Formats: sequence, structure tokens, C-alpha cells
Amino acid sequence: MTTHREPLDSVLETVGETPLVRVQAAPEAVPVYAKLESFNPGASIKDRIGVYICERLLERGDLAPGGRIIEPTAGNTGIGMALAAGQLGLEATFVVPERFSVEKQDLMAALGAEIVNTPTEEGMGRAIDRAHELAEARENAVVPQQFATPLNAEAHYETTGPEIYDALDGEVGAVVMGCGTAGTLMGVARYVLEREPEAHVVAVEPEGSTFSAALGHNPETGDYATEGIGTHDVSRNELFDPELVDEVASVPDRRSHAEVQRLAREEGHLVASSAGAASVAAVETAEAIRDGAVDAPHDAVVTVFPDSGERYLSKNIYGSFSEWEA
Ligand code: PMP
Repeated sequence: MTTHREPLDSVLETVGETPLVRVQAAPEAVPVYAKLESFNPGASIKDRIGVYICERLLERGDLAPGGRIIEPTAGNTGIGMALAAGQLGLEATFVVPERFSVEKQDLMAALGAEIVNTPTEEGMGRAIDRAHELAEARENAVVPQQFATPLNAEAHYETTGPEIYDALDGEVGAVVMGCGTAGTLMGVARYVLEREPEAHVVAVEPEGSTFSAALGHNPETGDYATEGIGTHDVSRNELFDPELVDEVASVPDRRSHAEVQRLAREEGHLVASSAGAASVAAVETAEAIRDGAVDAPHDAVVTVFPDSGERYLSKNIYGSFSEWEA
């Protein structure tokens, strides 16, 4: 990352302090700023929780040196945790539903991790259960469980939140971020709301996901190709606190995919589908603030672009919609 101007001892010291860059498609009067998380060494936002969770588990004595992390993950968390585990003297096993991109699984393995696949049709719920089964069968193994551990949201409360808030001198009007585990949104929203209680908070999901059920809505469940965000059973997303959320934005795959391609062509961002969804929702929120349809304490919207499009080349992310979604 460009702010690192001194020699460093470990790759772990390059996690975080990522750039915050204006999204050009947003209205002039209400800028949108996106935190570019592919600048992390494992090229995603999940490096932050990898380092934070491994360090806290070791500090607390929940895991002894040489112990094993076993984690259900769509991939990026595995890369972040494998990176941290390797540098902190831990072993790592990841349980990954088959549908997720092979690039991620190859990278976890390159970092020294063991991979266990679960059937795509059984979803993330099955991966979570399988991780617990494996941990019971092994000595000195812990399942941090990114969908449940408060350490996940805490990592963002301690790093992502303050980095964004400080970069904008506290002038944050709305926080609009994708929700997978919801760790990113919860950590950042909590940090911002403690300082700016009127800030508008939007959870972003793909259409077909059902986070809005937690806000009392009755969403229609469906499949989606957008990777890293969304849920079909919000009771599994234990970190998601509807009290912190004003609105859930459901973005159709087709719009997220088109936005990924627009961001590359027009703005030079090589980002992935969850960033496409976040960008669509963040620009719409900025337009709603500009038009007076949403009240916000400042004329600025913040979002996160969680990882890189390069990670999804095997999924044809830069191909046609039908090639990508297949
Ligand atoms: N985008 C991508 C590509 C991800 O891997 C994840 C993590 N599942 C997210 C967005 C969502 O982040 P969080 O889990 O913090 O909600």
C-alpha cells in the first residue's frame, strides 16, 4: 500500500490502511467513497479479520501455538486466515462449498492450508456444520466461525471504521456495504453511529438473498451468482444486528455484473461482483440524499470494494452476463 514508506518486518504489517477513492459515477453534490480492499496482501478485506482473529485467539489462550484454525469460508476469509495463520505459527483447514471460485481455493492451498469441499447445493450452512465436526475430531483445533464470532465485526470496528472516519474528518453521511457475515457493515456502522448517530446505514445483498427478513420484510428467496454477500437463512448470520440498519438494498445480479464492467472500463477498478452490488447501492443512496428522499447528517456516502475481479477470471466475470452467471 502506498502509505507504507518504511521497511517492514512481516507481510502482516501491510494489512489495512487501504486507499479510499471517489466513485466517479456518483452525484457531484453527494460523493461516494469506496475503500479498495484488494490492496491488502491477500487481496481482500478478509485479511483484516484473519490477522485480528488469529492474534486474539492466541492472546486469549483459546488456541495454543501450533494449533489449528478450522473455518467455513467462501474463500477470501480462508486466504486471509491462511496468511495470518502461516505467519503466526498456526495450521489452517478451510471448509468451502464447491461452487466458489477455484482461484481462491488454489491460493489458500498455496499459503499452506488444507481444503475440504462441501456440496454446493447444501450451502454455507453445511460448511459451518462440517467445520465443527472436523474440530471435534482433532486436538488443539478451534472454529473461529466468522458468521458468529464478535471478533469479526470487532476487527472492522478497530480498523476499517476508524480508517474511513478519519479519512473523511468524520463527515460520514451514509454507510452502504455488502453483507456476507455482516462483519464489515456491523463493525463500520457501529464505529460511525457512536460518533454520528444520524448516519444512514444500508445493508447490501444480491436479489434473492433474505437479510431483509430480519427487518420484518418478507423477501422472495432465489439463487444469485454474486459472490461473498447474501444469505438464505439470516438466523445463520449471527452478527447481523437489524437495529443498526435503516435499509436493505437488494441488487439484481445483472446490475452488479454490469457495474463491475463499468467500474473497470470507466474508472479503472478491477473489482468483483460484491463491489458491483455495493457501488450500485451506494450511488443510489447518494442520489436519494441529493434528492432529499433520505436524510443524512453529511453529504458523503462510504462503501467498500471487498476484493479483486482477477480472482474471478475463471468465472468469466469480464464475459457476458450469461457466461458469468452460469
Ligand atoms: N465480498 C466478498 C468478495 C467477500 O468474500 C465477503 C465476505 N464473505 C464480503 C463481500 C462480505 O463481507 P462480510 O462477511 O464482512 O459481510
